[in-house]
Amino acid sequence: MGQVRDVVITRRTGFCYGVREAIDYAKTAAAEGKTTHTLGQVVHNEGVIEQLEAQGIRTVGTLDEVQEGSAVVIRAHGVTPEVMDRARSRGLEVIDGTCTWVIQEQRALESLVADGYTIVLLGTPKHPEVVGLLGFAPDAIVVDEEEDWARIPRTKRMALISQSTQPPWKFERLAAYLVSRCHELKIVNTICPVTIRRQQDTMEAAAGVDFMVVVGGRSSANTKELTRLCQIAGTPVLQVESAEDLTDANAFGDAQVVGVTGGTSTPIEDLQVVTQRIYELAGTREVRANAAELAASSLGRVAGSTYRTSSVPSGTSTVPRRTAAGTTTNVPGSATTAGG
Ligand code: SF4
Repeated sequence: MGQVRDVVITRRTGFCYGVREAIDYAKTAAAEGKTTHTLGQVVHNEGVIEQLEAQGIRTVGTLDEVQEGSAVVIRAHGVTPEVMDRARSRGLEVIDGTCTWVIQEQRALESLVADGYTIVLLGTPKHPEVVGLLGFAPDAIVVDEEEDWARIPRTKRMALISQSTQPPWKFERLAAYLVSRCHELKIVNTICPVTIRRQQDTMEAAAGVDFMVVVGGRSSANTKELTRLCQIAGTPVLQVESAEDLTDANAFGDAQVVGVTGGTSTPIEDLQVVTQRIYELAGTREVRANAAELAASSLGRVAGSTYRTSSVPSGTSTVPRRTAAGTTTNVPGSATTAGG
């Protein structure tokens, strides 16, 4: 019999606005009767991809898989200008779901290139966002872990910028490191506020519970960072991809209060499922009997509309859309979410 009596889901969890907006664009296009594709998985979550497929939205790896006249949604990570041009020249309807924050990164890079800076980009080299950013600054030096940093050449004028989901501590440490490697250092802080707030909420939760469960893709950098922060807080932590990964009640030890958090591509609904599983697996007799209700209540305490998976009710089209040219097509009925 377990001892868990309460499971607390952290504040401000679920999809970030960038991921949600791209999903909404795809759903809206499909609801309008368009043959709709997303270039790459719009979110690294098989359950969500299956739901989109059920609505006729296909994930493609390359533009060659999209027939002329069809719609293709660019996901929140963005793409290189070349990919955008190619999509247009192939006669596709490009629906630009690049996150507004990533667009700011792209513009900042263009400006740094024009100003002649040697650009250091803190990011994971093959991450789609970084690949897209390099289209705006092909000569940028991409570095990730600290052991990479020594290969950054000494130069007179240097600029530092970051992939949106990098941990703030690493960005600050790299900035300090670069001070000694150049005469002028320009720092453009492009770490997404959603990422920062998610980390703050996780640290806050970890300080008040006996055990943390972090839900998200194994390869998701921002999910791994949440796990690392729980470890730094000194709270025992388990990272899982889904409720199915929770099989051993002993993992929870004597924990009575458990915190649950998730990465920016973890649907908020998954957190409820994981919460229910924790109650069922490691809860006291009382909570096990009411696991489903308690999990719904745990989510209800935190789940505002901001972090839900989609704003688009099935079968309707309600979201204003940016086109590839940066204009907005207003579809009656609602407004997009903006800001971090
Ligand atoms: S993490 Fe931030 S920058 Fe990245 S898609 Fe989400 S909102 Fe946009």
